[in-house]
Amino acid sequence: MRKVKAVKNLGKPISSGWFITPALAILVGLTGLIMVILPLLPRLSLPSFPGENKISFDPWVERYVPPGGEKPETLLTPPLKTSGYILPKTKTVNVPIIFYHYIEYNHDPKDTIRMHLTVTPYWLEKQLRFLRDNGYTTVDLNQVRAAIMGRKDLPPKPVVISFDDGYRDFYTDAYPLLKKYQAKATIYVISDFLDRPNYMFTWQLKEIATESANLITIGAHTRHHLSLTSVSEKIAWDEISGSKTRLEAIISRPVVHFAYPYGFYNQAVADLVKKAGFWTATTTVPGTREDSSNFFSFPRIRIGDYDGKFFESRLRVTGK
Ligand SMILES: [Zn+2]
Repeated sequence: MRKVKAVKNLGKPISSGWFITPALAILVGLTGLIMVILPLLPRLSLPSFPGENKISFDPWVERYVPPGGEKPETLLTPPLKTSGYILPKTKTVNVPIIFYHYIEYNHDPKDTIRMHLTVTPYWLEKQLRFLRDNGYTTVDLNQVRAAIMGRKDLPPKPVVISFDDGYRDFYTDAYPLLKKYQAKATIYVISDFLDRPNYMFTWQLKEIATESANLITIGAHTRHHLSLTSVSEKIAWDEISGSKTRLEAIISRPVVHFAYPYGFYNQAVADLVKKAGFWTATTTVPGTREDSSNFFSFPRIRIGDYDGKFFESRLRVTGK
């Protein structure tokens, strides 16, 4: 009797659940499959790199978090009036403009935001070596502009290297490597943050400007790193034009390249940048295509800790 009861009891949940289980299993299975496959789709054709899964930001979504990380900012891709209209007799070029923030060894493992904005000097050197050994030529934004205007062709495999914010570790960690590899780079400096903790000293910027005029281009990144789409036109103008004036007074050279803080811009902001006398402005929109229609919205590529094939695949990110 006991045995029969046990079998009966055992059979009940199995038989009653049997009609629900296949449907549930299929549903759960399909949902799981979709959740696994969807994030993989854009990178299926790309090689993975060591430690990729440990990186919590998605390198394919160019998110840029302000220092302090108060508000993670999303990607803005506003169409500018000029987009789609290329000036006559100008060219379209494909130059990856890569960008970095901190170049340092992680000072605080708990500061995950800073960690995500950091490339260690070890990886920067590997990347510079990779570019040198694989036929790339670092160029500056004047060369890119001249090529678009049809004045001078670019060397083979051109790439622009840029550093945002003017952190002190640019001077201590990145600058020596750029000199070692004779790699050209552009630094976008927040003019009024010079001499603050963590930011370059004015004397360091002056030294770079004097010592490496042909290697390092000094660009502007506003006076106080404000989101230019969130402030009045008066404040935006002061931030844009004021940073140009201040930096020019320090380095005694024209400052004609600009980067939007947090990558935030719109038509009005781009018009102010042009009016202030800048020649180009860079965003955080991913892509490698530059022409006369996007002088004030050049795309850029965010770089992390990797080199080799994955690094090279990032240089080929195409976009608008
Ligand atoms: Zn910035």
